[in-house]
Order: sequence, then C-alpha cells, then structure tokens
Amino acid sequence: MTIFSKIIKGEIPSHKVYEDDKVFAFLDIGPLSTGHTLVIPKEAVSTLDQLSDESAAAIGRVLPRLCRAVMKATGARDFNVLQNNGASAHQVVMHVHFHIIPKFENEGLGIGWKSKSFDHGAGADLAKKIAAAIVG
Ligand code: AMP
Repeated sequence: MTIFSKIIKGEIPSHKVYEDDKVFAFLDIGPLSTGHTLVIPKEAVSTLDQLSDESAAAIGRVLPRLCRAVMKATGARDFNVLQNNGASAHQVVMHVHFHIIPKFENEGLGIGWKSKSFDHGAGADLAKKIAAAIVG
C-alpha cells in the first residue's frame, strides 16, 4: 500500500481540499509553488494506463473545477497539470496522481523541453499504429 492510500483512509494526515466517492485531493507537502495540489483516484493503481474508465471519468469531471479553485485561492493566472508515470518519468509515489502547480514569476514547474525533428512519413505510420492499438 502506498502513502497515498493511507492518506485516503485518513491513516496519515493531509491538507484535504476535495473528496468524493472516487476522487481525493490534497496539498503537496513538497510544493513547487504555493497551492501545489495533488488529485488522486481512490482506486489504487500505479500509472494512468492502468486506471479504470470510471475513475478516469471521475477525475476528468473534477480536475478543471479543482484547477479553478486553486487559481482563485492563490491568485495565480497560469498553471501546469503534471502527471508522471514510472520512475524514469519522475514518479516517486506509485499511486496515480495529477499535480496542479500554480505558476508564479519565480515559482512553479520548470520544464526542459528538448523537441526533436519530425518525419512526416514515419509520423503517418506511427499515427496509424497508435490508432490501431486503442482498445475500448
Ligand atoms: P511524483 O514525483 O509525481 O510521484 O510526485 C509525488 C509527490 O507527492 C511529490 O510532489 C511529493 O512532494 C508528494 N508527497 C509525498 N508524500 C506526501 C504526503 N504525505 N503528503 C502530501 N504530498 C506528498
């Protein structure tokens, strides 16, 4: 069981901002900026690709609402939503979570965005391959 399952159960304290039957949200205790909030499904799976449609829909329904609330409470106008999957992608807690990170002038998420060149021929093949792999 991860620390986030214990937070949902109330076994570990948190600064809760939202809860319904499928979703829980609380302040990150290692914030990148004031108001950094974590939104998690109650379903205990490690990565987003494992999440049920029901939990995904429940998170999708409230995520924009929670973003609006964080922005209103902190006064931030800009923000990032970050969702890491797997250790090499910077995931530390192996329970799906979405970071809402307000962006201020000197606080927030820093991103190294090293884009590659794009090959349209290979891209066309890859798009078909991904489309064919979609299940459900
Ligand atoms: P990630 O690197 O995407 O797995 O992010 C995990 C996040 O969980 C980090 O930003 C941590 O600061 C945060 N975190 C870890 N333990 C707690 C906790 N007990 N309460 C609130 N946030 C936590």
